Amino acid sequence: MRIAVIGAGAAGCFSAIELGRRLPDASISVYEAGKVPLAKVAITGGGRCNLTNSFAGIDNLTKAYPRGERLMKRALSAFSHEDVWKWFEKEGVRLVLQDDNCVFPKSQDAMQIVRTLTGLLRRLDVPIFTGKKVVSLLPGFRIGFADGTQAEADMVIVTTGGAKAFPFLEALGLEIVPPVPSLFTFNIDSPIKELMGTVVEKASASIPGTAFKAAGPLLVTDWGMSGPAILKLSSYAARYLSENGYKATIAVNWLNRTSTEAREMLDGYAAGNPRKQLSSVHPDELPSRLWDHILAQAGLDAGKKWAETGRKGLNRLAEVLTGDIYSMTGKGRFKDEFVTCGGVALSEINMSTMESRKHPGLYFAGEVLDIDAITGGFNLQAAWSTGYVAAVSAATAAGISAAGLR
Ligand SMILES: Cc1cc2nc3c(=O)[nH]c(=O)nc-3n(C[C@H](O)[C@H](O)[C@H](O)COP(=O)(O)OP(=O)(O)OC[C@H]3O[C@@H](n4cnc5c(N)ncnc54)[C@H](O)[C@@H]3O)c2cc1C
Repeated sequence: MRIAVIGAGAAGCFSAIELGRRLPDASISVYEAGKVPLAKVAITGGGRCNLTNSFAGIDNLTKAYPRGERLMKRALSAFSHEDVWKWFEKEGVRLVLQDDNCVFPKSQDAMQIVRTLTGLLRRLDVPIFTGKKVVSLLPGFRIGFADGTQAEADMVIVTTGGAKAFPFLEALGLEIVPPVPSLFTFNIDSPIKELMGTVVEKASASIPGTAFKAAGPLLVTDWGMSGPAILKLSSYAARYLSENGYKATIAVNWLNRTSTEAREMLDGYAAGNPRKQLSSVHPDELPSRLWDHILAQAGLDAGKKWAETGRKGLNRLAEVLTGDIYSMTGKGRFKDEFVTCGGVALSEINMSTMESRKHPGLYFAGEVLDIDAITGGFNLQAAWSTGYVAAVSAATAAGISAAGLR
């Protein structure tokens, strides 16, 4: 039984290990286009590798996986975040859970994950052939490489990550959901950029007229806005923002509260501090410079007394606090993580096995599928879970066909 794994990233190496463990007599080969395996894993989480998440607070999987939530529900039931924890600890990688629910190696070193996976492949005698870029795949399976060589396999697991392999997959008649980037920061045209470095811990951001909304810390940068709230919004609205040329109206709720709650808070400030200036009394969570900016956005004079502000002024301030409008003028970069939204359409595969419906024996795992997540370790979790399911399914099918040959 010859099994080819295309791509030596997180999903590819993980599935090759699980295959190697289940099929010691099979000939398993991993083909990698780049010079080294797991190049991306080495730089994940700023070099620390946020390899999974505790999933605390994820009451609905669409919050973590805007695309692929149904498939991930099944894949997680086969190989969960707890399984990932046990798997790596069993291999000697001590893990730590951070307060923000992200899981990292205790060593804080992504290279420990790389060494663990490549070491296991070596011990299982599963070779990784680097510099082997796959350019064609014919049913059966015949694999063509960019260097003109070819290989044959009885089964193939495609784990090529983002967009690079889509041409040869399209040639197989597979539907590809057009790739667009996810997890980026927003370029904003506003003087708020002068407040760069300001962080508001409990904010939310939304796109008015749509259902896209995300809560969490928001960071003002010298080009616009970043932080978990913005990155999550970029993920939820990845396709919408792409279709709109990364130009959109963004509403920031600085308190992540309703305008009625904000208005009640302001009434309390006015009643308790009538003689004080607007600039001197503000919610603890909003730094003074940001508060002055918000007053200016509401057209209010910071030197005005609370008692003189009046009903209209307080209403305006409540509106700005809970729906401060900005123009997004473009997409920034997020150096710690970015992923591709889009990929092999999930309708093409059997969600319980990751096998192609059109081409039996062809499996998929990882980011090549139309699955992507917000930041926090969910993307690597998808690679481990889908890699596991593809390997177990392929190994089961291989066992069955090997039995049939005897
Ligand atoms: C900077 C950065 C930081 C990140 N940090 C995190 C994090 O901390 N936590 C998290 O959960 N996620 C993180 N991610 C996302 C995560 O790395 C990916 O979701 C994950 O690596 C996907 O795994 P994969 O195996 O599907 O794809 P990849 O890791 O991209 O691996 C695919 C492999 O296939 C190879 N390949 C592609 N085309 C071919 C071809 N035609 N022939 C042969 N080989 C091919 C590629 O060279 C690559 O080695 C980060 C992403 C980036 C870019």
